[in-house]
Amino acid sequence: MSPFQYASATTPEEAIALVGKNGRYLGGGIDLLGEMKDYIVSPDVLVDVKSISSDSPPPKKWPDFPGHYLSGNMTIAQIAAESDLKDSFPGLTEAASEVGSPQIRNVATLAGNLLQHSRCWYYRQPDIVCLKRGGSTCYGQDGENKYLSLFSGCACISPIVSNLSVILTALNANAWVTMKGELGMITMPELYSKAWKHSEAHNYLNLQDLLSGVAIPLNRTRSAYRQVSEKSEFDWALVSCAAAGNVANGKITDARVVLGAVAPIPYMVEAANEYLEGKDLTDEHASHAADIILKNAKPLAHNGYKVPIAHTLIRRTLLALNA
Ligand SMILES: Cc1cc2nc3c(=O)[nH]c(=O)nc-3n(C[C@H](O)[C@H](O)[C@H](O)COP(=O)(O)OP(=O)(O)OC[C@H]3O[C@@H](n4cnc5c(N)ncnc54)[C@H](O)[C@@H]3O)c2cc1C
Repeated sequence: MSPFQYASATTPEEAIALVGKNGRYLGGGIDLLGEMKDYIVSPDVLVDVKSISSDSPPPKKWPDFPGHYLSGNMTIAQIAAESDLKDSFPGLTEAASEVGSPQIRNVATLAGNLLQHSRCWYYRQPDIVCLKRGGSTCYGQDGENKYLSLFSGCACISPIVSNLSVILTALNANAWVTMKGELGMITMPELYSKAWKHSEAHNYLNLQDLLSGVAIPLNRTRSAYRQVSEKSEFDWALVSCAAAGNVANGKITDARVVLGAVAPIPYMVEAANEYLEGKDLTDEHASHAADIILKNAKPLAHNGYKVPIAHTLIRRTLLALNA
């Protein structure tokens, strides 16, 4: 690990001033310190943002505040344990409970989870300069692509593996970010949009941009999250799925179905959401929605197994909204 300075900020303004041109914000450090130990990133300063109050900036107090606000500093364990959240957004509780292990959940923050970097083993290997690290080749395309994407808008096929990005996209949450000194709100698809087209991007934010929290609208009363992993703990999902919507008399409205670990972004197909509108929430309709979502999948030599897993997960997650 290269030498670095440590600083702690208590306001967003202070954090942005301290981070400078080559600093990094520090949440729980689970992702960032791993990258530093492998010399994938070598920031000159780490700015600890965990002492920034959740009321700063104060979206909670803004009159037109749209929904339930979660501070980016909440730990994943806190999200998993909060009973209000479980009542309003059961899928969020399920997604948080599936992250890593109790030790990781106790330390990792919401902001850090959303902004964690690629886990592709070519990206994480210090001696390989892959496309995502500024090289000219995505070694996953013809190499060991078992864990890589089925969909991508660029040559990099490393998938997003943040559980919370998947459920928060299904819940149509907005991220509160300070970009170029201005506090504003961007949608979850916007937060990741750049990673679809640009191989080097993990998300839309620049190094100096600060994520303060997310706001979840209250207009979807049902949500669910399911994943399949190789291990039950201490592991990322091979494929994950989140769904949210409203269900009345067995019919679903306002559905949003999202897949994780199959694309560089939380993967959603608007045509599937539209197809589900007003439909009975049956296995047949859920299965057809899965067909729509997976229609453009481009499996590679070793990751074709993800397609039937994704199909099953979409059905199971949608049917879980009936409960
Ligand atoms: C064995 C293992 C298994 C795992 N399994 C899962 C899993 O199943 N699902 C899952 O979702 N994750 C999983 N993870 C990943 C883990 O959840 C993330 O590494 C963790 O959530 C990152 O959060 P953090 O607070 O530690 O982030 P950090 O490491 O502190 O930060 C991550 C990135 O976000 C940036 N950042 C942090 N805070 C801010 C902010 N406020 N504004 C702007 N940028 C910021 C940092 O600069 C850094 O680039 C696993 C990790 C391990 C080691």
